[in-house]
Amino acid sequence: MLQQTQASRVAERFESFVGRFPDARTMAAAGENVVVAAWEGLGYYRRARLLYAAAVRICDVHDGEVPSSTEALLALPGIGRYTAGSIASIAFDCRTPIVDGNVIRVVARLEAIDAAADDPALVKRCWETADALVGAAKSPGVLNESLMELGATVCTPRLPSCDRCPVQTCCAAFRSGRAASMPRPKSRPARRIVHLYPVVLRRDDRVLLRQRPLRGIWAGLWELPSVESADPLEVPAIASGLGFKVDDLRQVETFKRLLTHREVHFHVYEASTRIRRGHWCDRVVSAELAMAKPMRSLVDRRVWASDWPGG
Ligand code: SF4
Repeated sequence: MLQQTQASRVAERFESFVGRFPDARTMAAAGENVVVAAWEGLGYYRRARLLYAAAVRICDVHDGEVPSSTEALLALPGIGRYTAGSIASIAFDCRTPIVDGNVIRVVARLEAIDAAADDPALVKRCWETADALVGAAKSPGVLNESLMELGATVCTPRLPSCDRCPVQTCCAAFRSGRAASMPRPKSRPARRIVHLYPVVLRRDDRVLLRQRPLRGIWAGLWELPSVESADPLEVPAIASGLGFKVDDLRQVETFKRLLTHREVHFHVYEASTRIRRGHWCDRVVSAELAMAKPMRSLVDRRVWASDWPGG
């Protein structure tokens, strides 16, 4: 949960999520859709699918017990070097290094490496240094946690608190007076612009919803039927992009949401249709389907809170 999501947001959700899925067997038995729905609001839903896939593999290959070796952890879906190192060292006391953004900053400063934080040579050097440190530590888990904590609380990005730093005497950046300028910031790619055209279609007390493709933005989540485009679209292109016939297509609102890598322009439409197939959902079913945050608030606001018999 903590990958790409703020700790305060995770703190609100962690206990109830773990209470609902206390072990791999419970999660595997619940099914992917239930796990993804329970993840709603945390973003980056691919993590929920991978977590579910890891639970299934833990049941199939490890008899329901989380494996303790780094190699077996790395073979689980969604577990990379950082997560495997965290679990192996903190939960099982293995001598496995961890390198995250905090560790990169601390090592770059200790060794006065003047490079961008995502420079592959710097990252490689950090893994080597972290490996040497954890190899020499009394407690691998404590060493790894303390390195990350040092970066999070003392050796902070802009104003490191060198005067209260326990490793100040061996810090090359401090000695040279360049601590705050190392490492250099990562280069951030510009956000890609996406135009999204969700269409509200009602029938009796139901609304038509569908699942997004399993690749791309909000993969596999539910939505109002939508057309996505890199460029603005006219009404005929929206109508034909839906894949079924609609009438009386009219725009009702627009808004914009910023994601980490994308700027999404919502152009919301309403229309009517005669089609009967598809997922026509009432309010209860709609609430149980996992949706991205902006789509959930759009559906709640425009469909269920509207002046309409189903709302
Ligand atoms: S002395 Fe300053 S720059 Fe060096 S590790 Fe400590 S806080 Fe970071």
